[in-house]
Amino acid sequence: MASGSCGPTDNTEDAVGLPIPESAHANPEEEQLIAKARQIAEEVLLPNAERSDQAEGPNRENFRALAEAGLLGIALPKEYGGSNVSGETQRAITEILASACGVTTFVQAQHHGPSRMIANGPNPALKERLVPELAAGRMLCGVSFAHLRRPGPPVLRAEPVPGGYRLYGTAPWVTGWGLMNQVVFGATLPDERFVYVWVPAHREEFPELFEGLTPPDGDWGRYQASPPLRLCAMNASATVTLTLEGLFVPEAHRLQFSDRETLRCNDRKGVLGGTALPMGCAAGAVRLLCSLAEKRPIPAIRQSAEHFTQELARTRRAIAEWNARNNEPDFFEKAVRLRAHAIRLAVRAAHAAVAASSGAANLLSNPAQRLFREAMFYTVQAQTQEVMAATLQLLEEETLEDLLPPPETSA
Ligand SMILES: Cc1cc2nc3c(=O)[nH]c(=O)nc-3n(C[C@H](O)[C@H](O)[C@H](O)COP(=O)(O)OP(=O)(O)OC[C@H]3O[C@@H](n4cnc5c(N)ncnc54)[C@H](O)[C@@H]3O)c2cc1C
Repeated sequence: MASGSCGPTDNTEDAVGLPIPESAHANPEEEQLIAKARQIAEEVLLPNAERSDQAEGPNRENFRALAEAGLLGIALPKEYGGSNVSGETQRAITEILASACGVTTFVQAQHHGPSRMIANGPNPALKERLVPELAAGRMLCGVSFAHLRRPGPPVLRAEPVPGGYRLYGTAPWVTGWGLMNQVVFGATLPDERFVYVWVPAHREEFPELFEGLTPPDGDWGRYQASPPLRLCAMNASATVTLTLEGLFVPEAHRLQFSDRETLRCNDRKGVLGGTALPMGCAAGAVRLLCSLAEKRPIPAIRQSAEHFTQELARTRRAIAEWNARNNEPDFFEKAVRLRAHAIRLAVRAAHAAVAASSGAANLLSNPAQRLFREAMFYTVQAQTQEVMAATLQLLEEETLEDLLPPPETSA
């Protein structure tokens, strides 16, 4: 058994002694889902992680396991078969899955937001047809909206036309293409507001949702998908660029309007949500360091395993505490720095796993290089201008000390 902080000490630690992500306010149903996530991570995702990472596309067996466990419906309302768990529980589940297999977790993460947008949308027919399928994981939904954050002329425009909209331009990043049979696009209207619309990959698959919705001129327009982008990390995520040439979207498939300021506010409010993936990656790297400490009797490896175990736990605590203090005036200033810290921790812990694995770290069959590349990807995933600035600043000078909230004082 590992000694020090690498060894299991009580039931707040997992099999290799890492403090486990938990949801402090989880109800019994949520606890059960967290337990299922842990089981699938250990028994299905982790044993195949290098194979999934090197595959041509998403590992469908992993998705089947997630669907069967109800983990693809966690953001969806119960009336449609989802479990509508809290944000805290969603983050805990994401972190657990990401500690085992980055690419599977990233691809499934894309599905939750757009599915919820459909469930919250104004069209009952769309909800009734799609949401039960999305909640059960029988269908998956992709999303393309990150380009809305870019300044300057929009890359994807929505032109209002009789009966709906026509989409023009490019959707630069669409993950899960082929696995997902539908996408929610965010596009910019001529008045600079945003519109989010639902688009199936193949209209013929949903004839009932297009009844009586033919474009007045009969021209549906077109879209074209690039071949899967060749990526150094997440290469198996089936990420493509879509080019849209006047694709017609009926008004009935509009989900919501928004604008740049709302997107900015939501990004700020949700800045800690983006810590779950890098924290999972860091946890995967710490797990690897702990097992290396067992296999290689080198004191520096054990020391590193113990250091990162502690740092992971402290960072997790800081994230949980700031999540609970999201109404405080300095929330965003601290939270964005904490997001950068989580990114940096994933990179440093994965780098430590590379160092502790020595030359073997370079083998594509070795988990250390996979975690290191995943950490690189999480550095830019869902990146806002403020997250980029905080990341770059931290890379100039790192400290966690002043991010820890002061202890509660009693009156
Ligand atoms: C493999 C992969 C898969 C992805 N999958 C998806 C997906 O399925 N769906 C999806 O929506 N997104 C996806 N993304 C996008 C991802 O979430 C990030 O948004 C993206 O990586 C940021 O890079 P970018 O080049 O698109 O951003 P950029 O457009 O360069 O922007 C990054 C940030 O910097 C800001 N910025 C850029 N230029 C300026 C400037 N001149 N002045 C001030 N601020 C500026 C932007 O506002 C933005 O907030 C994916 C990305 C990758 C790499």
